[in-house]
Amino acid sequence: MEKPQWLKHFGLRFTPGQVVSLCFIVVLICSSFLTWREVAVLEDNYISSQRNRLDSVSHGMDMQLQFNMDRLFFLRNGMQAALKTPLQLKSMSIAHHEFDRRRQQDAWSVQSGSRHLLTVNGVSDAFVAHGSDLNRDNALLHNELTAALELGYLLHLSSSSNSIESRTQYVSRAGFFVTSDPQPIADITSYYASVIAKPWFFTQSARDNHGRGIRWYTEQAEARGVQVITASIPLYLADRWYGVLAMDVDVSALQRLLVEAIGDQHEGSWQLYDSQLTWLASSRTDVSDEPTLSATDRQRILTDVGHDTRGGFLTASGYISWQKLKNFDGIVLHVHTLREGLGGAFGNIIIALSLLWLVFTSILILSWIVIRRMVRNMIAMQESLEWRAWYDTLTRLPNRGALFDRAEEAVRACQLAQQPLCVIQLDLDHFKRINDQFGHQAGDRVLSHVGSLITNALREHDVAGRVGGEEFCIVLPNTTTAMATRVAERIRNHISAKEFLIRKNTTLRISASLGVSSTEERGRYEFEHLQSIADRRLYLAKQNGRNRVYSAG
Ligand code: GH3
Ligand code: MG
Ligand code: MG
Repeated sequence: MEKPQWLKHFGLRFTPGQVVSLCFIVVLICSSFLTWREVAVLEDNYISSQRNRLDSVSHGMDMQLQFNMDRLFFLRNGMQAALKTPLQLKSMSIAHHEFDRRRQQDAWSVQSGSRHLLTVNGVSDAFVAHGSDLNRDNALLHNELTAALELGYLLHLSSSSNSIESRTQYVSRAGFFVTSDPQPIADITSYYASVIAKPWFFTQSARDNHGRGIRWYTEQAEARGVQVITASIPLYLADRWYGVLAMDVDVSALQRLLVEAIGDQHEGSWQLYDSQLTWLASSRTDVSDEPTLSATDRQRILTDVGHDTRGGFLTASGYISWQKLKNFDGIVLHVHTLREGLGGAFGNIIIALSLLWLVFTSILILSWIVIRRMVRNMIAMQESLEWRAWYDTLTRLPNRGALFDRAEEAVRACQLAQQPLCVIQLDLDHFKRINDQFGHQAGDRVLSHVGSLITNALREHDVAGRVGGEEFCIVLPNTTTAMATRVAERIRNHISAKEFLIRKNTTLRISASLGVSSTEERGRYEFEHLQSIADRRLYLAKQNGRNRVYSAG
C-alpha cells in the first residue's frame, strides 16, 4: 500500500495495521492520562476537604481548651499575687497559728472559717526534711499557706460551665497541699507522698521545665480505673519554686469536648490521642474500646508528630488525618473509611469516572480489534485485486497487458546492451475440440497445465504471458534464434510428450504450434513487430500440420 508522503519524509515505515494500533495506543494513553489527572485532582480536593474538617474540629476543641488553660494561668497568677500580697484576714492568721501548732505531726489538716477557702492538708517537718525536692522555708511559709487557702476563692471566682476539670489541687514543696476534691483524704501522708512522686509534680522543677508553662500528663487513675489527664503548671516567685498547680481532667470531659467540636460532622470516626499516641477518647460514645490503629500507621504518625503539626495519608482501609491541638499535648485523629470515602461526593465522582474510563477503554479495544481486522481484510483484498490486474488467474502467468509492459522493458534493455532478443508465440492445437468434447472446465485444466509447463521451461529473466484464449507469448532476452528455437522445441516436446489425464480413465494427447522471431533477423527492437513475425510463423506451423516450431519464413 502506498505510504503517506509525510511518513516517507521521515523515513518511517509502518504498515497500515501498525498505524491503526499506534493511533489506538495514543488515544488509550491520552484517555488514561486524563482520567488519572482528574482522579488526582479529585483526590487532592478530597484530602483538602478532610483537612478542613479536621481543622474545624481541632479548632473547636482548642477554643474549649483555651478557656481551661486560661483558667489555670489565672489560678497560677492569682497565687503568685497572693504570695506577694496575701490577704490579711483573721481566718488566715488562725490557720497560720493552727499550722504552727501542728506542723510536727505526721499528718494534719487546717481549715479556715470561710466556706470558699480550701482545707490545707500537710505532713510533718521531718517528712519534708527527708524529701529531696521538698523544702520548708519558714520565712515564706505563711504567705504560701495563705495563697493555698486563697486558691479556693480563685477557683470559685473562675468556675464556669466551660470548666472541664474534675479536680484542681496545689501541691507545695513545703509539705502541704490543697485540693478542690471534697472527698475526705483517708491517709494524708501517703497521699502527699504519692502526689510528689507523680511526673506532673517532680518534672516541674526549674531543672526540667525551663519555660514554666503548662504540661500535660496521661495516667491511669488507680482509684477510679479511668484514664486521667493532668495539666500542671509550676508556681514560681522570684525564681523560687513553691509548688505545682495541677488540674485533673477526666477523659469523659475531653470526649464531651470532642463530640461538641465535631458537631454534625459525623462522617468517619474521630479520636483523641495524647502525644505518645495513647488513645484517650472516641467520638462515638458506643465505642468504648480503643480503636485499632495498625502498627505501621501508629509508627508513621509517631514519627511525623515530632516535626509536623498535622498530617494525613491513605491506607488500605481509608484515609487517616491528624492534627496537633494547640492547647493540649495531643492530637485529634480522623479515620475516614474507604466505604465512607467512596460513598461521599468525591467517591461517587471517582467511581463514575473510573467506570467511564472502563467503558471507554473496552469500546476502544473492541473497535481496535474490529478495525484491525477490517484493515487486514482490505489489504488482502487490495493485494488480490492488484494481482488480478496483472496476472491471469487460470495459468498464474502475467496477462496480456502485463506481458506487453514487461516485454517492452526487456526489448529496451536488450537494445541498450546490444543483445539479441527472441519472441515465441504459442497456440494450442485443436483446443476448441477439447472444450467441445470434455467441457470448458476440462479445457481450463489443460490451460493451467500448459501454463505451468511453460513456466518450468524458462529461465528467471525470461517473460511468459497469456495473450489470448489459448495463446501464449514468451520473451527471451539475450537469446539467439538458435537458442530460442531450442527452447520452443523443448516446450512443444513437454506439452506433447505426456498424455494428459482429462477425466477419470481418459487421457488425451495435446500439442501446440509455435512461431519464433528474433531481433537478429532485421535488428528491429520493436516488440509488436517481433510478435507479429512470431505470429505469422505460428500460423505457418498450423498450416503445415501443427505440433511444430517455425523460426523462419
Ligand atoms: P487451432 O488448432 O486452429 O488453433 O484450433 P483451435 O480449436 O485451437 O482454434 P481456435 O483458436 O479458434 O479456438 C480457440 C478456442 O479456445 C475457442 C474458445 O472456446 C477456447 N477458449 C478460449 N479461451 C478459453 C478459456 O479460457 N477456457 C477454455 N476452456 N477455452 C477457451
Ligand atoms: Mg488453437
Ligand atoms: Mg487460438
